[in-house]
Amino acid sequence: MKLTREHFSTLGDFSLYEMGYAHGASCSAYATFVESRFKTFPSDLESLLHAGIGISGEAGELLDCLKKSWVYGKPIDDLNLHEELGDLLFYITALADLIGTDLGQLMRDNMAKLEKRYPSGYTDADALRRADKMGEPK
Ligand SMILES: [Mg+2]
Repeated sequence: MKLTREHFSTLGDFSLYEMGYAHGASCSAYATFVESRFKTFPSDLESLLHAGIGISGEAGELLDCLKKSWVYGKPIDDLNLHEELGDLLFYITALADLIGTDLGQLMRDNMAKLEKRYPSGYTDADALRRADKMGEPK
């Protein structure tokens, strides 16, 4: 069954579909899955560190995959990149949950920030201007 935008809006769930990545897994269903597989610790700091170190480790694995192509001239391993992105998503979802937010809110807030920064799409000038940070203390 091909999922459509209507399927997700019926669920009342901001999903990856909303970002154009229709694959059938809603953010809340995925977050519930991650919660069932993520090891937490007695203290919040330890759980946050677990998620943060997980993000860093998986980012390193992703970079290593790209390095193998760049340095050794191997073909880019899309399957490995796909896996590492999923691993990153796991830890990002866990960390989001630990701080009381979720992927849907992260996506909405990130879109709002980047729409302000790049009102007409990416440009180097807008990247340097950082309109979304204007008025913030440096
Ligand atoms: Mg990995």
